[in-house]
Amino acid sequence: EAKHRTQLIRVHQEIAEWYHQLLMKSPLAAAARDYLKGRGINSAVAKNWLLGYSPTNSQLMRQWATEQKFGRQILIDAGILIFSEERGDAYPRFRDRLMFPIRNDNGDVIAFSGRLLQADAKAAKYLNSPETPIFSKSKVLFGFDRAKRNISKAGRTIVCEGQIDTLMLHEAGFTNAIAGQGTAFTEVHAKHLKRLADEIVLCYDSDNAGLKAAERAFQVLAPTGLVIKVAGLPRGEDPDSLLRKEGAEAFSKRIEAAEYFIDFQLEHLARTRDLNDMGQKVKVVQEMAVNVHLFPEPVKKQATIMRVAYKLGLSEEVVRNFVERSQLKAE
Ligand code: ATP
Ligand code: MN
Ligand code: MN
Ligand code: MN
Repeated sequence: EAKHRTQLIRVHQEIAEWYHQLLMKSPLAAAARDYLKGRGINSAVAKNWLLGYSPTNSQLMRQWATEQKFGRQILIDAGILIFSEERGDAYPRFRDRLMFPIRNDNGDVIAFSGRLLQADAKAAKYLNSPETPIFSKSKVLFGFDRAKRNISKAGRTIVCEGQIDTLMLHEAGFTNAIAGQGTAFTEVHAKHLKRLADEIVLCYDSDNAGLKAAERAFQVLAPTGLVIKVAGLPRGEDPDSLLRKEGAEAFSKRIEAAEYFIDFQLEHLARTRDLNDMGQKVKVVQEMAVNVHLFPEPVKKQATIMRVAYKLGLSEEVVRNFVERSQLKAE
């Protein structure tokens, strides 16, 4: 099995190079190069992250595989080809997409994420490799191989949602940035990060999906004792769009001004709910309580209960009761 894994990694490394060469040079990738330019990603950045282009024509991949002496089965195992029972043949999973290599902690390419070059109602904007013997979504963090040393040095991890956010953050000097794989954080991720630094700054998209994702991340990360903060971005922005608008210095100020997740959530709820309405107020206390109870440290729990009580004009006792009830429910 070790041999199979080594083979799979070799396939990924080789095809990442091939996709990259196509992106940089092939006439087939002219639109992809225009797309990159439009997003402010120059060829040095494309090279640095080994970005690529997956062509539509499957004949090209067949030629490449023959030259490389890769058989059909290993490419299917790698998730590069999809076997179709119907056609009795295999075809490339990624077609006409901008390719982002996903690497393991050692920096080996183990999977891809491919982005459409233009919006398409029928296809997913991002398409990822399937789970394979070398790729498990719940274990890999995009950019971790590059960020890990900088995370230790900086004493914190910047966590964003996307591949483009991650690479733009790195290029702007925020080399301690990583992204989850679109999916929520897992305990495996939490342990990885906890070993390097105690603080997480969430830089998720400032939209409803991003808010939800931040809460889920908090719920997985907080029980480990990590300090979870949120950098507030203007509504509708993500790190990539904001860096392009405001530049690195302004972004750095937002990172420094990041608030504790709990305070951020409390402010958000106080702003968006009508606290004069008793029913809504109860809901807000409940929503806060499910998160407050996750703190493993009594000091954090106590301090947060005080803040929630103060903000909502309630006694600490009442808030503490809600927290204890959440705790009972969770057990
Ligand atoms: P872009 O700026 O290119 O539109 P983004 O990173 O801002 O990309 P979002 O829509 O904010 O994209 O989604 C955040 C992340 O979630 C993406 O970077 C990608 O990793 C993942 N993702 C988004 N859409 C999909 C999808 N349809 N399937 C799988 N993963 C997805
Ligand atoms: Mn988004
Ligand atoms: Mn986004
Ligand atoms: Mn974006």
